[in-house]
Amino acid sequence: MRFKGSTIFVTGGAGFIGSAVVRHLLRDTHARVVNIDKLTYAANPDSLPGAAQNLNYAFEKQCICDGAGLRRLFEKYQPDAVLNLAAESHVDRSIDGPGEFIQTNIVGTFTLLQETLRHWRTLSPEKREQFRFLHISTDEVFGSLGDDGFFTETTAYAPNSPYSASKASSDHLVRAWRETYELPTLVTNCSNNYGPYHFPEKLIPHMIIKGLASEPLPVYGDGKNIRDWLYVEDHAKALTLVLERGVVGETYNVGGRNERTNLHVVETICDLLDEIAPSAQGPRRNLITFVADRPGHDRRYAIDASKLERELGWNALETFESGIAKTARWFCDNRAWWQAILDRGYQRARIGLG
Ligand code: NAD
Repeated sequence: MRFKGSTIFVTGGAGFIGSAVVRHLLRDTHARVVNIDKLTYAANPDSLPGAAQNLNYAFEKQCICDGAGLRRLFEKYQPDAVLNLAAESHVDRSIDGPGEFIQTNIVGTFTLLQETLRHWRTLSPEKREQFRFLHISTDEVFGSLGDDGFFTETTAYAPNSPYSASKASSDHLVRAWRETYELPTLVTNCSNNYGPYHFPEKLIPHMIIKGLASEPLPVYGDGKNIRDWLYVEDHAKALTLVLERGVVGETYNVGGRNERTNLHVVETICDLLDEIAPSAQGPRRNLITFVADRPGHDRRYAIDASKLERELGWNALETFESGIAKTARWFCDNRAWWQAILDRGYQRARIGLG
């Protein structure tokens, strides 16, 4: 009876990871979920099929930078926990327009912390003890790795992009609200997520959609940058486990132990698409084109998730091979989902060159 009788705020629940968390909570637990989302370009209510009919689900269109609006929601729903996934999340966009990242990721997290604290202080001692604020962050706050080593929970922060700097700032605010005001907070830092319902601007869906259209597949730089890939549904399960059993004040790294070069990822997608939807124009690997690198492109990220595995018993169920096969198949079977985004005018043009 996980989360029976609990009300959980999920901010950013119409985004990629937030919607996976909402789907998981509604499917696998008894939580009452309130999805708080401003509905930016990255949001998609179509990523929550059936949620609107679920009695355990409510949606509130709300910006996390608006304190009065948030206060109204805390008073209305009296939540037992907050999962903060509302963010501007695309590195390339942060290079072209960092302002929104500062607003949502830093000012928004600050505002949410203030309103959570106000609510938390009204609770009974027992409820206060049980309350949790879980902030979702990224491994990008740790900067770039060389050929060896992994990011652990004690790795020093060294963010290199406007995006990762804004996330690092918000992580520090969350920590400070715990140390200063005793708000029961936790932070998770995860690697690159992928899976169903991924917005087309990110590497994997971008390549699948372009590959299906037999368009050139632009790989940044030499394609040797390494990312550690985490299947989004494994991540959603990690987050509810941390909410349930994580130690207040701690941080947990979440990663799939799936380091791959960007070029390997794109080649794997080409091969999967050739199998699922063969093209008359021949193997899709021929579409790979190397383009100018992203400014400040971190070379390698790799997450050591052993604390989460050891202390909370989490394990990623998907390998990269199983997860990418499921993902390619999902995008082929759910063209209507991503075609609707393209039809709304989403441009697949290159951005983020500074
Ligand atoms: P996303 O861009 O897909 O979704 C973000 C959601 O937040 C959207 O629904 C958007 O409408 C909402 N939002 C944005 N600004 C808001 C505001 N001011 N008020 C309320 N809602 C707002 O992002 P995602 O990929 O789902 O990422 C979720 C979290 O996980 C972010 O904090 C991100 O930094 C972190 N993260 C993501 C990845 C990844 O690979 N996607 C990796 C590491 C960490």
